[in-house]
Amino acid sequence: MSHRFRPATELIHGGTTRTPHGETAEALFLTSGYVYDNAEQAEATFTGAIQHYQYSRFGNPTVAMLEARLAAIEGAEACRATATGMAAVHAALLSQLKSGDRVVASRALFGSCHWIVSTLLPRYGISSEFVDGGDLEQWRAALAKPAALVLLETPSNPMLEMVDLRAVAELAHAAGAIVVVDNVFATPLLQQPLTLGADVVVYSCTKHIDGQGRVLGGAVLGGRKWVEEVLQPFIRNTGPSLSPFNAWLLLKGLETLRLRVDAACRAAAELADVLAAHPAVRRVWYPTRADHPQHALAMAQMSAGGTMVTFEVAGGKAAAFRAMNRFRLIAVSNNLGDTKSLATHPATTTHMRIGAEERARLGITDGVIRLSVGLEDVADLREDLARALG
Ligand SMILES: *Cc1c(COP(=O)(O)O)cnc(C)c1O
Repeated sequence: MSHRFRPATELIHGGTTRTPHGETAEALFLTSGYVYDNAEQAEATFTGAIQHYQYSRFGNPTVAMLEARLAAIEGAEACRATATGMAAVHAALLSQLKSGDRVVASRALFGSCHWIVSTLLPRYGISSEFVDGGDLEQWRAALAKPAALVLLETPSNPMLEMVDLRAVAELAHAAGAIVVVDNVFATPLLQQPLTLGADVVVYSCTKHIDGQGRVLGGAVLGGRKWVEEVLQPFIRNTGPSLSPFNAWLLLKGLETLRLRVDAACRAAAELADVLAAHPAVRRVWYPTRADHPQHALAMAQMSAGGTMVTFEVAGGKAAAFRAMNRFRLIAVSNNLGDTKSLATHPATTTHMRIGAEERARLGITDGVIRLSVGLEDVADLREDLARALG
């Protein structure tokens, strides 16, 4: 059911298959294996002469419904779901890279993605180079030499820096590289990297796609040939597979994604303006605000500003901690994309390990707070922020 309806409809119906019982809701197939009618059918399955589920490490009907639904929303030819977002990133990279390859990545990556590129890949003889994602000249210089793969995140965590997807994809392709985009912050609804030149899109489904703080999950989307010939053998033989139960929860999460993301975006845009006007706040980063350093790019590349707001309070770590400890509604948590609003202090948590020098390069000062806006009444969130910043 590829691309028959608009994304909001695909979120509800995409990929649904029904058993002979005609159930309305997606069936949950909690099974590790499958039985065959006879030995001949088993043989035909293994030779590929017929299509039959074999083993849930590499195929399960509930997981397949999720994969088909995600592909339909993204406008991708194919998708494979994984147990976590990091399993998705790892599979997208390691399924295709080999010793001697070169990777170029934006510096502002999710912590574990940064670790894979800077620490894991070099162990296998894959060299890596980081650039400031918002600076096209750095991309141009790094991609003047041949590269196998480009990895980037836009908007980035936590400073909401934008990368020009179309321009970087063009440079990357000229260098012979495949472009992998971590689209978690934008969600599949606000930004479609494949239409802007990306080859592969990865998600942590743990974030907005579940969106209710329940399960971990991930997804890799791309062309059918690449998914079937490059990604699928890697997943089949290394086993980063998604549990059917988690796939079922993610299917139900997708059904409300449009409503949840739209509501959280509206609240986030409003809170960004409220924060920008507050005397205790030095600066606010929100992609669709006119004072965002890459406002024009954000407006061209995204259909809304997203569910995350980053701001800096005057007075550094002490002031940031004081504000966070005064929240009564907003919870202190390093997770994001939940119905519950969550605040984190990146310098001492998610971005502690990258060190002070790298944080300074990324603009993550000790006064920076990252807010993941949930679905509470926005008036209550405004009051909570006002009280905390008091
Ligand atoms: C959370 C996150 C990941 C990792 O996903 P997990 O599901 O936690 O493994 C990767 N990239 C970004 C941008 C994220 O926010």
